[in-house]
Amino acid sequence: MIRGSCLCGAVKFEISGEPSSLSYCHCSRCRKAAGIFSAVLIGNASDLKVTQGEAFIQDHPPSAGGKHRRCFCNQCGTSLGDLHTGDIYVVAASALDDEPRIKPAFHMFVGSKPDWYEINDDLKQFEGDYIPE
Ligand SMILES: [Zn+2]
Ligand SMILES: [Zn+2]
Repeated sequence: MIRGSCLCGAVKFEISGEPSSLSYCHCSRCRKAAGIFSAVLIGNASDLKVTQGEAFIQDHPPSAGGKHRRCFCNQCGTSLGDLHTGDIYVVAASALDDEPRIKPAFHMFVGSKPDWYEINDDLKQFEGDYIPE
């Protein structure tokens, strides 16, 4: 079980089962909503349950052509990721309270990152969305 919550504690969620990946997203939406980039934990949508504060979760709709909403706590503004759209959850790893026990595997949307932020690791980089091999 991996637990997560927002900064003010109004929203709490739990993830059962194994996440499929942890990665870094450098898209323009993550840049603005999360600081500079998001660390995102991805897994099966049915493994994630909001255990408290569903009513405080507000969302910003997907961009044109995009698929992910951006959920946040309307009390404290904590970026939560996309908690329940389609088959997968895309949770902001910054909101986790427990160790996900999975290491980051890649960077995505690096084509959208600003030049002043340099990536200094050897993880695989995707210009746009992650493309499974
Ligand atoms: Zn909150
Ligand atoms: Zn992003």
